[in-house]
Amino acid sequence: MLQTSMNRRRLAGALWSAGLALIALGGWRLGRDLLGWGRPNVLLITLDTTRADRLGCYGYAGARTPALDRLAARGVLFEQAVCSAPLTLPSHATILTGLLPPEHGLRLNSVGALPAGVPTLATELRRRGYRTAAFVAATVLAAKFGLDRGFQVYDDNIPPEARRGGGEGGQAYRSGESVADAAIRWLQQPSRAPFFCWVHFYDPHWPYHAHTDRFGAQFADRPYDAEIAYLDAQVQRLLDALTQTGVGPRTLIVAVGDHGETLAGEPHAEPRPHHGLMLYRGTMRVPLILCGAGVRRHGRRVGALVETADVFPTVLACCGARAPARSSGRDLRPWLRGRSAAPRACYGESELPASYGWSGQRSLTTEEWKYIRSPVPELYDLVADPNETNNLAAARRSLMEDLDERLRQIESAMTPRAARTVTLSASERRKIESLGYLGGGQRDGAAGGPRHDIKEMLPLLWRSFEAEALVQSGRVAEALSIWRELTAESPETILWRNSLGVSLLKVEQAEEAVRTLEALKAEMERDASALAAVQPDGGGIYPAVVNNLAFALCAAGKHAEALPLARQAVELEKDNGSYRHTLATALRGSGDRAAALQAAQIAADLLPSPEHLLTLAQCLQEAGQTRPARNAALRVLQMPADAAEKERARALLEKLR
Ligand SMILES: [Zn+2]
Repeated sequence: MLQTSMNRRRLAGALWSAGLALIALGGWRLGRDLLGWGRPNVLLITLDTTRADRLGCYGYAGARTPALDRLAARGVLFEQAVCSAPLTLPSHATILTGLLPPEHGLRLNSVGALPAGVPTLATELRRRGYRTAAFVAATVLAAKFGLDRGFQVYDDNIPPEARRGGGEGGQAYRSGESVADAAIRWLQQPSRAPFFCWVHFYDPHWPYHAHTDRFGAQFADRPYDAEIAYLDAQVQRLLDALTQTGVGPRTLIVAVGDHGETLAGEPHAEPRPHHGLMLYRGTMRVPLILCGAGVRRHGRRVGALVETADVFPTVLACCGARAPARSSGRDLRPWLRGRSAAPRACYGESELPASYGWSGQRSLTTEEWKYIRSPVPELYDLVADPNETNNLAAARRSLMEDLDERLRQIESAMTPRAARTVTLSASERRKIESLGYLGGGQRDGAAGGPRHDIKEMLPLLWRSFEAEALVQSGRVAEALSIWRELTAESPETILWRNSLGVSLLKVEQAEEAVRTLEALKAEMERDASALAAVQPDGGGIYPAVVNNLAFALCAAGKHAEALPLARQAVELEKDNGSYRHTLATALRGSGDRAAALQAAQIAADLLPSPEHLLTLAQCLQEAGQTRPARNAALRVLQMPADAAEKERARALLEKLR
């Protein structure tokens, strides 16, 4: 480690000397490029899940956002900025590349990585002598998804202890305070070269915390606002660090949201994580504030429609660099200098509904109109109806067709790219699941006719969350009738048919569970898109169906039939503790005790749940290993487990006395 930093210092020294030598030779421009002289620093702050209309500077009276408000007062605030997709990874990829999702290839969270060779703010600024570092708060932006390219430091370290209780599972993100701590340590390192530092705050993402330790009861009934107030305090710490190190005046600060959020009671509210499915204003409008070096107007509020893709060419231009020819964004400097530019139309997309077997959406936003292309198209007059409640698609048919044609022109001008394939480990998938991104397989719909429209399926989606909550609270019989209803209404939603199978198992209707899962598996195997289906959280749905079928066969006493399927599931996902547990169960039922013990041991190591520990204890007992068996059963008594599991552990300990 020390050796590396010594080498780096030596390298920096060598580069410095090289720069001086080049200047001496008259290569002033090249020397300036190598050392980044005269260029502003850039601090890019991305505000996850932050609605513009929940900030004081955007007119929200209930806000406590003094840091962002001051930035707006000293800089330029864009009233109408929109994102390209209401999901974290696709939207951040747009901010960093200036490309729209079909062009950078990241259409969903956790499904792929940025294709090689796509220029990003980090690669372009690094080439021009900038020091580069990123500090991200959530697993959805982990380095493996490719946004790390060009960053010398990419801090995506989410320690297990950083998981925060939210009442519905731990959260795989770290607090804004922890992100700001890491960024400030880096910002305080002295250096001659300018820097590009990206800091990502995730706190306003569901589930919300009221931060009573900090704000008392002020936000007790408005925890989403509390998260934004908390985030704002961390922004202030970053700004203070710039002041303390004396680089404030030489730094361009960009604060931008990745997407908004739908709030309970709104006309277009979405189930958790409350964004991602649809393209209405609540999730597509984001805050965008630029301040500091290169921003010549103070307190200007721009009403023109702009988009987050514009950040890329604007930052590069402010740093004296030309954007690569292929950028969907445009340079916002006219507005930073008190001028303006011609109006434009902005593209938006949502691919998440395809995860449920339903149609995705595309949108075109102009300063007056929003057109949403969906099986049931939508058209809104944004001036008269900013909340998008009065669909004018039927009344203004020819206008809608014009907007659809403009959308087609934008699409045909794109150069589509496919994301690089990324494989997630089971533990990574669990972390991402804990953020609330669950879904079924991603289907292209080629097998079926016209697909359902997400807005019409929304009531069913809310019902599915009710069913999940019932399962979690042990009311499986009630959940079962909901799953039956939902799978009849939307048989294309693989995830729900899988859930029906699992619930049948839980109420000990193993024969019907087997029939349900067998039919689903066979159907998936006939449809290539279903077989390859990936969940928005990155996991394949097919291995889960194979595993659940194997487990159902075990429950029906058909261990020999279960065994090859259990092996297949383990083969598909080797580090999945649940699949290993199914294999142990099938082996034990087939009489292969030694192999069962081995599989149970791996299952308990990968995922030490009460169920896995109990199976391990039984396998150990059957192998005559009394002491390890007792230890495994004792662990169940010491951990949170349900009453039946504790009872099984006590019964086992009784036998092992
Ligand atoms: Zn996000």
